Amino acid sequence: MKIGFIGLGNMGGPMAANLAKAGHEVLGFDLAAPMPEGVTAAASAADVAKGAQVVITMLPNGQILRSVAAELIAAMEPGAVLCDCSTVDVDSARAVADQAHAAGLGALDAPVSGGVGGAAGGTLTFMVGGTADAFAKVQPLFEIMGQKAVHCGEAGAGQAAKICNNMILGVTMIATCEAFALADKLGLDRQKMFDVVSTSSGYSWSMNAYCPAPGVGPQSPADNGYKPGFAADLMLKDLRLSQQAAESADADTPMGALATSLYTTFVESEDGKGRDFSAMLPRFVGRHRS
Ligand code: NAD
Repeated sequence: MKIGFIGLGNMGGPMAANLAKAGHEVLGFDLAAPMPEGVTAAASAADVAKGAQVVITMLPNGQILRSVAAELIAAMEPGAVLCDCSTVDVDSARAVADQAHAAGLGALDAPVSGGVGGAAGGTLTFMVGGTADAFAKVQPLFEIMGQKAVHCGEAGAGQAAKICNNMILGVTMIATCEAFALADKLGLDRQKMFDVVSTSSGYSWSMNAYCPAPGVGPQSPADNGYKPGFAADLMLKDLRLSQQAAESADADTPMGALATSLYTTFVESEDGKGRDFSAMLPRFVGRHRS
C-alpha cells in the first residue's frame, strides 16, 4: 500500500518504521524529526498526500491536526482515508472527519494506548471512530502497528474512548497514591498494602500493573526514580481533554475535574513536569491534611 505519514516524533517515528519494514511504501513529512528507517522524505504534507491510499497523522494537538488536515484533504485523492492517531479533542476529530467526508475521503480517529514501547514493538491498542468501510481499509495497517484495534463507533468515538479511559486512569492513580500515603501514616507496610489491595476490591491497573510505590509490585517507573513512562504532563493533557469534552457534552465529572486540578498543580507549581504520572505518591507523602 502507498502510505503517507505526518508527525514522525516519539510515537509516529517507530510506527512509520514498522509499516515500512512490513513492505509498504511510506512517504513521510515532519517539521523537525528525522526520517525513520525505510521512510522516504517528502517536501510538504501535501506532497505526502498525493497518490497515498492512507495518510496517517501523529501530531501534538487538535489545533495542529486541524491545520495539517486542511492541507492534506485538499491534496488527497477521492476514496483515500485520512487516519489520525494523535490524542486530540473530540470536537477536532469530528470537524476533520466532516471536512474529509465532504471531499469524498474516508476518515478515522484512531488514538492509541501503549506508549513509545508499544509503538516500537508494534503492540499498540487502537481505539477507532469512523465508518466501517474506512476501518476495514486501514485495519491491515493497525495489525502491523498494534496488537488490537477496537472499532468504537462513528467519528469521534475513538477519542471519546481514549479520554474516558485516561480520566479513569488519572483518578485511580491519585486514589492509589493517596491511599499509600495514608497507609504510611497508619504504620501499614507498603508490601502488605499491595498484597491485600491487588487481590481485593481496591485493585486497578494503577495498583496491580503500574504500582506507584518503589520496590512493590511489578517493575514500574517508581523503580526507576519516576522517570516516565507516562509523563505527568501527558496525563494532564488527556485530563484537560476529558474536561473539555465534559463541558461540551454537559456531563458531570467531579472526580475528573479534581484529578485535572491536582495534576495541574503537580505539573505547573510543583515538581511534576518531566516526571512519571505515578510520582503523585512522593507528592502525597509528607503532606498534611489541608
Ligand atoms: P512528539 O512531540 O514526539 O511528536 C510529534 C511530532 O509532530 C514532532 O516530531 C513534530 O515535529 C511534528 N509536528 C508538529 N507540527 C507539525 C506540522 N505542522 N507538520 C508536520 N509535523 C509536525 O509527540 P509523541 O509523543 O510522538 O505524541 C504524538 C501524539 O501521540 C500526541 O497526540 C500524544 O498525546 C499521543 N500519544 C503519545 C504517547 C506517548 O507515550 N508519547 C502515548 C499515547 C498517545
